[in-house]
Amino acid sequence: HGDSAAVDARVASVCPYCGVGCQLEYQVSRGSGEALVGEGQQAATLADVRELSAPSDAITREATSHRQPVADARLDNIIAVSGRDGPSNHGRLCVKGRFGFDYPRHPERLIRPLIRRDGVAKGLDANFDPAHPLTHFREASWDEALEVAAEGLMRLKRAHGPDSLAGFGSAKCTNEEAWLFQKLVRTGFGSNHVDHCTRLCHASSVAALMEGVGSGGVSASFMQAEQSDLIVLTGCNPGVNHPVAATFFKRAARRGTRIVVIDPRALALRRHAHRSIQFTPGADVALFNAMLNVIITEGLANQAYIEAHTEDFAALAEHVTALTPEAMSPLCGVAAEEIRAVAREYATAERAMIFWGMGISQHTHGTDNARCLIALALVCGHVGREGTGLHPLRGQNNVQGASDAGMIPMVFPDYQPLGDTAARARLEALWDTPLSATPGLTVVEIMHAIHADQIRGMYILGENPAMSDPDLDHARSALAHLEHLVVQDIFVTETAQFADVVLPSYAWPEKDGSVTNTNRQVQRGRAALRAPGEAKPDWWITQQLARRMGLAWDYAGPQEIYAEMQQGMDSLDNIDWARLSEENSVTYPCLTPGGEGEDVVFGEGFPRASGRARFVPTWPTPPDETLDDDYPTVLTTGRQLEHWHTGSMTRRAYVLDSLEPAAVATLNPVELERLGIAAGEALSITTRRGQITLATRADPLTPAGMVFVPFCYAEAAANLLTNPALDPVGKIPEFKYAACRLARAESA
Ligand code: SF4
Repeated sequence: HGDSAAVDARVASVCPYCGVGCQLEYQVSRGSGEALVGEGQQAATLADVRELSAPSDAITREATSHRQPVADARLDNIIAVSGRDGPSNHGRLCVKGRFGFDYPRHPERLIRPLIRRDGVAKGLDANFDPAHPLTHFREASWDEALEVAAEGLMRLKRAHGPDSLAGFGSAKCTNEEAWLFQKLVRTGFGSNHVDHCTRLCHASSVAALMEGVGSGGVSASFMQAEQSDLIVLTGCNPGVNHPVAATFFKRAARRGTRIVVIDPRALALRRHAHRSIQFTPGADVALFNAMLNVIITEGLANQAYIEAHTEDFAALAEHVTALTPEAMSPLCGVAAEEIRAVAREYATAERAMIFWGMGISQHTHGTDNARCLIALALVCGHVGREGTGLHPLRGQNNVQGASDAGMIPMVFPDYQPLGDTAARARLEALWDTPLSATPGLTVVEIMHAIHADQIRGMYILGENPAMSDPDLDHARSALAHLEHLVVQDIFVTETAQFADVVLPSYAWPEKDGSVTNTNRQVQRGRAALRAPGEAKPDWWITQQLARRMGLAWDYAGPQEIYAEMQQGMDSLDNIDWARLSEENSVTYPCLTPGGEGEDVVFGEGFPRASGRARFVPTWPTPPDETLDDDYPTVLTTGRQLEHWHTGSMTRRAYVLDSLEPAAVATLNPVELERLGIAAGEALSITTRRGQITLATRADPLTPAGMVFVPFCYAEAAANLLTNPALDPVGKIPEFKYAACRLARAESA
């Protein structure tokens, strides 16, 4: 829409989708409506171009997702997006960054606060139409909605104590919004029950990194791949999930960098790879330990580096003695000679990097997986120099920043331990409030605590656990069981359908703020659109709730919030708002005023008490579920190139949803033939927790014995099937491995 409209403004910002953090420019046509923002004003809004109050007949999710965005001359519109020369994208964008920006004008956009109608049950209702929510909710003024939202939370706190409340924030929000959210939970609710999608993403990687090297961030940017002689890509699929980072890897390969792909699924990037190893799903620890065995027993370890910069090497060396390639080969399905070959190549490279994704982290042994990768890099001294490093490719656009800002239940901002009295005293002084030192519950633990009547009220900002949590029947029944749920979002998401109060917030192109990408680059996002109706900025809504809970907050906007963050987070030293606004991107840590941030860290040692990194030995352990006659196939889940997370934005972006409009399971053609199903025909997938039906797609890259399902489709929600078993350290569910049964179905 709007392709004939004039460009009235060009606004520099950042992509809101993945952790690459591409810088972009919106080309905006201004609408004629003058009062799109402003309390109490009712000028041109989305409501004017749809019959908001007219209940619809039953409209399925499939039909609503294909609605065109609202085209109305009174509204601001983004008519095109182009890449800017940001440090992580050099002008490039993927399909999401180029075409994924009409969702703020989708007819389902929330424009006024909503309160659940008396007598309407909480939960998903096939007859609910998010574009016409007044069948289940009534509109309310901001005053009334905030009062009901805050009073419901306070009532539970008064009756049952601080531990009866919890909050899920979002990695799609800005750093400033994340800071305020966790501050509200810690100072208003009075607990540390605050978490977000890092728990479903890289929590195990962060746990292993904190333990091993003393910092949860990457040790080097992905641009450093171009300085590497060899890069390992394991448990990640950058061509799909970090597409612009993948362009750096391809460029590196063209210049002679050897790419080694280690993954149960063959990746599109294998075409650029020097070596591609497909191993048995869930057997990562066996494979990596065998590589460590080869490196240590063949004298390829970097002894000078180990002695200068690490501790506990002797224990690791002894531990892996028995974990030979011959012993581990039957477990991981890789020939011993191939294990030896890849171990030798990694160890003897002058400069090597390891990149990993959720194929590593989303396991019950996810922390052990990451411990192995850390050990591989340390044994070879592949850390702290250009072209070397450890890089967990972060998922959401701001999962790094939201984690840094403290939206984690077991640490304060900047990963400061709750039990560190000096760190706690510093925040208590900054916030003028005593803080709890008791670790809070994590995402899946909170769902269990709701069923146990421990958690009774929640505030959920931008997160969609009714789609993103494992074992959705359990998660959804927990949400329905809550006595009071406040959801703040831009649409009536699946989670909002369980809410007592729904608060309409700004979409990303309507916001100012900062976000931090996978490279530790803090970047400036800018508002391009005026928000429709009575939607408000997330920081404003959180502040209003805080005031009604008795906190004397008075922030004027993101700049003031960021200034407070700088007082509580040393990682932001020398990166003030003015500098961010002028330079758009500054890497942390930045050691001097005006200095360049550190693209590569740990050259001088590690931020641990000893200054040394630590080896942590691991034992191969099988996935939580084993395959058997009833459930003989491995189910694994993930993302598609065109869709993002639970699809709340991309399934409402017309081009993206037109490219991938329906749920699809990908299987090896051999598997399809075994099942007697042609590509495109319907498949039933059943696990011990649920069943879905969806169409099939032939994919020779998926190994026989496995099915891959994206988790963004509400009409065939993959997480109805997934296993909620948790990694004991990172508390991340095993999304990458569930035992399932496949069967031909009549129709998808
Ligand atoms: Fe956006 Fe990631 Fe695509 Fe870049 S690679 S345009 S940050 S989704």
